[in-house]
Amino acid sequence: MRAVRPEGTRVQVGGVEVGGPGFVVMAGPCAVEGAEQLESAARAVAQAGAHLLRGGVFKPRTSPYAFQGMGEPGLKLLVDAGRRHGLPIISEVMETEQLPLMAEHADILQVGARNMQNFGLLRALGRLRKPVLLKRGLSATVQEWLSAAEYILAGGNEQVLLCERGIRTFETSMRNTLDLAAVAWAKERTHLPVIVDPSHATGIPSLITPMSLAAAACGADGLLIEVHPRPEQALCDGQQAMSPGDFATLMQRLPGVLAAV
Ligand code: PEP
Ligand code: MN
Repeated sequence: MRAVRPEGTRVQVGGVEVGGPGFVVMAGPCAVEGAEQLESAARAVAQAGAHLLRGGVFKPRTSPYAFQGMGEPGLKLLVDAGRRHGLPIISEVMETEQLPLMAEHADILQVGARNMQNFGLLRALGRLRKPVLLKRGLSATVQEWLSAAEYILAGGNEQVLLCERGIRTFETSMRNTLDLAAVAWAKERTHLPVIVDPSHATGIPSLITPMSLAAAACGADGLLIEVHPRPEQALCDGQQAMSPGDFATLMQRLPGVLAAV
């Protein structure tokens, strides 16, 4: 990063610090689907010890006929659920036009993999003074990912979190290929916090726990995980959603790994 500084960037989100000594877990459904679904998910992740609640209200779907997210009413549900459970919220912004609404209500603005090089959106985010989580693009090199982050930093917004969510390779057994070496690399050579999303990286619920523990072991600053109260009924990414029970077990196992590194 151009603005090299010896100490790492620490980003404050509500009462949570990302990039400091603590390990931050953001969890919740891929998409906000309704009040009851979100409340069950929020209650489960809060009880298990998550630090932030995730939930998409604008969804970047491959097909235009797939569920596109609840939009503004979904955002209101997310804000209310976050408040009820004392969790700051993270949600994806897909278009510059959505920024005023999202920036007013979300604590972290997520830029999805498909928008990593949407330079107009990145420039607009650079003009804000709000935390942004920038996902690595579907086929982006580490340098392209960092250059995309630089667009936000260059505008004066220093609250940038990198997120490794797997990249597309020749391997098809998993949804993507989780590049944990890139996480260690980015931790070594940039000052930005790095978050790992094992849900989109693998697409397979049983792999989320081992990859989360590995992410903690290799120096990541936190995780972004999809949890759904009833994965089989999810309107989006249900096949990769973790059950609340498995998420709680993962949360119990993380401290052991973090203490060992
Ligand atoms: C998501 O977080 O639900 C999402 C769409 O992720 P990605 O941009 O990494 O595919
Ligand atoms: Mn998803």
